[in-house]
Amino acid sequence: MNSKDADQPKQTSAVVTRFAPSPTGFLHIGGARTAMFNWLFARHHGGKALLRIEDTDKARSTQEAIDAILQGLDWLGLDWDDEPVFQSERAARHAEVAHQLLASGNAYKCFATPEELTAMREQQRAEKKPMRYDGRWRDRDSSEAPEGAPYAIRVKTETAGKVTIADQVQGDVSVQNSEIDDFILLRSDGSPTYMLAVVVDDHDMGVTHLIRGDDHLNNAFRQLALIRALGWAEPVYAHIPLIHGNDGAKLSKRHGALGVDAYRDMGILSDAMFNYLLRLGWGHGDDEFISRAQAIDWFALDGVGKSPSRFDTKKLQNLNGHYMRNADDAALVGLATPWIEQELGRSLSGAEIELLGQAMPVLKSRAKNLVELAESSLFLFKKRPLVLDERAENLLDPDARTLLKSIHIALTDLENWTLEATEETTKAIAESAELGLGKLAQPMRAALTGSTSSPGIFDVLILLGKEESLGRLADQIEKT
Ligand code: GLU
Repeated sequence: MNSKDADQPKQTSAVVTRFAPSPTGFLHIGGARTAMFNWLFARHHGGKALLRIEDTDKARSTQEAIDAILQGLDWLGLDWDDEPVFQSERAARHAEVAHQLLASGNAYKCFATPEELTAMREQQRAEKKPMRYDGRWRDRDSSEAPEGAPYAIRVKTETAGKVTIADQVQGDVSVQNSEIDDFILLRSDGSPTYMLAVVVDDHDMGVTHLIRGDDHLNNAFRQLALIRALGWAEPVYAHIPLIHGNDGAKLSKRHGALGVDAYRDMGILSDAMFNYLLRLGWGHGDDEFISRAQAIDWFALDGVGKSPSRFDTKKLQNLNGHYMRNADDAALVGLATPWIEQELGRSLSGAEIELLGQAMPVLKSRAKNLVELAESSLFLFKKRPLVLDERAENLLDPDARTLLKSIHIALTDLENWTLEATEETTKAIAESAELGLGKLAQPMRAALTGSTSSPGIFDVLILLGKEESLGRLADQIEKT
């Protein structure tokens, strides 16, 4: 543990957090960060991190959308205690709680028809009054309703005083109770409202700390009113500011991709994404590079900033470059292989995978992401004679091909195929031709890799080996 935190008592096993995404097709960047904060808080305290899929909107909650969220969480390395809870499966329990409140006198039946409620709202609008249910059935007896009339169940909220949330991020935030109307718990068709479902599920899952986006702060007042009506334990709230775009505006598509999966597909490493999202709204001094283990050690809600953070894809790319350069070679081989195989349209052989491993120190130093890494490795696996890209082809004019001939002859005589020896030989030719090394390196690169950008030319010679290198050079010379 970090020494700074060593004297802080750890709450053991008491902490239970949850991430409660509504499946909308992908794991949103903001959702991913909320998930991480919940996960980190629970792991830091040795508690439980739970997952609840809020799939009550059946039209949107497809299995595909649920899978996309689960995959996104898995990619970020977030694991959850217990099986995920599916909110839609708990409707009977939600209804049961609404009826309990009815029985205890903390809720009542409201027989107001939709037309009546519309008229009520229109009148409020006309009178420029806040639009909220006016409590017309709060004190009426059900016997006053027509026989068999449908009804909703509404919670009886406090009318006087105020409700204050001691939010761990926002500080104390209050709302007058008069501003919270008697909202619906169970609709006349018997279906639970979102407000009821969240409160019941959080309670039944034993959630102690609610960490979520501050777009839910308004809901929190109603949820707390309901919790108090039920006499249940109140959770600790932490509403985190939303993520904005790099121009400070609300994050939207024009700022770039919103789903975590899109960044995975751009070749961002999971560790880099984790580190980037972590520092988006949470900080630990000036520490820039934070591993998962350090994050677990250090995570505390008082490190969460109060103002919205800005998502900057450039910074993410740069951070990713750092993670690429420092990643374990074998791990990168595993991660890059599927990309390479897709590019080549075939699988890599065992020997090719080994070669990729040998090339990795050189490749990873130049690549900002896995896509770049895969692309820069392709020259290793191309078959002779190479198909040159347009720029490489243009570079190989008759003069360049003549130079290649001298290089080929000199390298053929070379016995020690080492970085130093190949470099020395090539330099000697450059000197006798009175040319800069670059003038030789470019045509060599074109012939050896088929393109005009690659790792250092002597690294290329060593990685390809003498036979393959000479063969590739010869292929281009013969074309003249
Ligand atoms: N399902 C809600 C959402 O995805 C979260 C609800 C909550 O955290 O209380 O925005």
